[in-house]
Parts: sequence; structure tokens; C-alpha cells
Amino acid sequence: MALITKKIKGCEDVLPKQSYRWQFVENIMREEASKFGFKELRTPVFEHTALFARGVGATTDVVQKEMYTFDTKGGESVTLRPEGTAGAARAVLEHALTNEGLPIKAYYLTSCYRYEKPQAGRLREFHQFGIEEYGTSSPAADAEVISLADSIFKRLQIKNLHLEINSIGCPECRAKYNSAVREYFGQFKDELCGNCKNRLEKNPMRLIDCKVPSCAEIAKDAPSILDYLCEECESHFEQVKAYLKVAGIDFKVNPKIVRGLDYYTKTVFEFVSDAIGSQGTVCGGGRYDGLIEELGGQHLPSLGYAMGLERLLMVMENQGIEIPEPEPCAVYVAGLGDRAQTKAFELVNSVRLSGLSAETDVVGRGLRAQMKYADKIGAKFSVVIGDNELDENKAELKNMTTGEKTALPLDGSFAEKFASLYLSEKFGNME
Ligand code: ATP
Ligand code: MG
Repeated sequence: MALITKKIKGCEDVLPKQSYRWQFVENIMREEASKFGFKELRTPVFEHTALFARGVGATTDVVQKEMYTFDTKGGESVTLRPEGTAGAARAVLEHALTNEGLPIKAYYLTSCYRYEKPQAGRLREFHQFGIEEYGTSSPAADAEVISLADSIFKRLQIKNLHLEINSIGCPECRAKYNSAVREYFGQFKDELCGNCKNRLEKNPMRLIDCKVPSCAEIAKDAPSILDYLCEECESHFEQVKAYLKVAGIDFKVNPKIVRGLDYYTKTVFEFVSDAIGSQGTVCGGGRYDGLIEELGGQHLPSLGYAMGLERLLMVMENQGIEIPEPEPCAVYVAGLGDRAQTKAFELVNSVRLSGLSAETDVVGRGLRAQMKYADKIGAKFSVVIGDNELDENKAELKNMTTGEKTALPLDGSFAEKFASLYLSEKFGNME
């Protein structure tokens, strides 16, 4: 039994009493994305494994250790998406979206899958909001996407989120930087962790952000990428910073932020919170000017980022940020006896059609139990219908807060009359 009544490790359910918190955050993300001109892109939950090997990078932890990969019955290797960019880039190429004008501005809100060690803020199924902008090399685009993240955080009223930015240059600057890094860390080869020993050959820049304390200690005095930027990359970075200042966004330059693939270029950034311990990176991204080319397309400078919804919600909870609870039921209509219950069913339907929420009994409860339920769901108004009310064709609407009663006809005008009373009560009290 345990197998069917226990979810898979590292996955979470979002229960009905919690889901409004997610919806609140997701709605703000959608609204802000829309203000910036980004439209939603939905791609399949799985893709050909080869796409991720290419699009995320064969030397990354994600591809080497974290993917859910399996063979289908048809013998194809497929992988549950560990992130959103590869699928988005694939869709851009497959549908030749570049023909529809540049830049292509898309966002996604999806689940992702990574086989990691589950802990606070680190799950095996988690959710990301991500931004993708294809077809622009302008530093204004870098500042625009960062500004979108910033405005989401501001609307969510999140405090103490620090933006850290860096530039990792173009392949030319990086070749020079990589040899400097290799030379520097080479002196400490025996003290490096196993991963870093490997990286020293394959992907030296990644040594810079190793989280193992002894490696981080050595990395403190490592050369900085910023000293190796070519003129163009340096000027691009200067302009990104200038645009961020214009947008009033605070940031810190942190040369230790790196993304170590050939097709990642120039700007990289993270939004980091100190409210949720070591899993503090809420959002990470940057430019990947070489990605579309790497996947077989034309040269198409692009950029984007992803933020983790679980981590964001954790930060909000830790900071005591209140999320408005959903509106309770506008009216509960109770019925006493079969005939009245049928009428109640008809009335709640008409209220719902008029645009407000309404409930009646669907369990077969008696009147007392129905009223208890109405209380429990926090119904704003209630109506009890029995034989008398049916005979007189009217009933009393009770305001559950004040106890005030108003007679309403039980005919075709019920929903409309209820709505006008409900709305005047709701908005009349606003001053
Ligand atoms: P980390 O260094 O924390 O492993 P990452 O570099 O793997 O992060 P990205 O691939 O940049 O993360 O993903 C963007 C965001 O998605 C992260 O900043 C984080 O908020 C979220 N995220 C990544 N992996 C997980 C996970 N396993 N569980 C929950 N959220 C995650
Ligand atoms: Mg990770």
C-alpha cells in the first residue's frame, strides 16, 4: 500500500487550501511578463535526450547527474525537462519563430525535474518561471529582462533580495581567462575536490563557483574574469550596468558568478536571498548568444533566466508576506426537504451564471449540518428555503456577519437582486 499512498521522494503536493498562494504568485508573474511584452510559451514536459545534452551542456551537473532519462517503448531516449531554455530554443527553431520578427519574447511557468538530494528549497519536481528573449544583442535587453524579474519581486513585496551580476565575456575573452584559471588552480591541484580536478581540464571557469569550502577558499584569490574582457564585452557590461542604474535597480558586481558553457556569453546574474539559508538563489540567468547556433540554427544572440517558485514562496513565508486569501462563497442556499433542495440547486446555478459564487448541499445533509457547513466555508450570506418559502415564493437572505435580513423573491430575479445587494454591501463598505 505504501507505494500508492506515498508520493515520490522530492516531490510535493499543492493542496487545495494552499494553491491560492501559488496562483497569487503565478498571476503576478503573468501580469508583469505581459507588461514587458512577453507571451507564454508551453512546451512538452519531455524532449529528446540529445536536446538537453546540447542545450544545457554535456559537462554540466544537470546533464551528468540530475536528469530523468528513460527509453520509451519505441526505443527512443527521452528526458523530463530539467530546465526550460532548451525546449524553448527547440521550439523557436522548429517553428522558425525568427520569421515572425525579432526579438522573440516568451515566458514559461512549468514543472522541472532533477534527480538531486531533496532538502529545503531543493526538490526533484520543482517549478520555474522563466523568461526567454531571442534575437537581440543589445545591453538594453539584458537590463529589460532583469528589470522584469525585479518588478515581479517588488510586486511580491520581497525584501533583501540582492542582485549580483557579472560578465563572462565571449569565447575569445574566455579562452584567455580559462588558461589563467587553469594555471592558477593548477598550483593547488592536490587540494581540489574530485569535481574540480575534472573541471580543471574540461571547464576551468567552473572552479570559480565551487561550493566545497576548501575550493572556495582557494578560489578567493583566483584571477577575475573582469580583467580579461575584450573591449566589446567590457563596453557591453558597462552599458548593462548603466541601464540598470536608469531603471533604479541596485546591484553588486560579483566576478564569482559564472556559467561555464561555451555558448553562455557576457551577462550572467543571480538574485540571492539571505532568508532561506544555503539554497538562497531564487533566480539565475544570463546571455546565451551561442545557444541557437549550437542547436543548429543561425547566430541568434539571446538571453533569459529562471526563478524557482518553491524558493520564492519560501522567502515570502519567511518574511511573513501576506498573500490575500481567496474570496469566500458569496451565498449558501440551504434547502429543507426535496422540493426546496431542488429550488436551492436552481438558485445557486443562477447566481453562478450571474458571476458570483454560490453553494448548496450536495451531500444530503439536514438543515443544521448545512448551516454548519455554510459557517465553515465562511459564506457571506445564506438563505434557507423550506415549504413556507416555496409557497410564498420569497425567502430571507441573511448577512452572516451582521445577522441583518432582507427578503428576496425566489423567482427569475433572485440572482440579479442578490448580486446588487452583495456588490453594494461589498463596495459600499470600502470607504
Ligand atoms: P543551484 O545552484 O541552487 O543548484 P542551479 O544553478 O542548478 O541552482 P538554475 O538551473 O539556474 O539553478 O535554475 C534556476 C532556479 O531554479 C534556481 O535559482 C532555483 O531557484 C530553482 N531551482 C533549481 N534547482 C532546483 C531544485 N532542485 N529545487 C527547487 N528549485 C530549484
Ligand atoms: Mg543545481
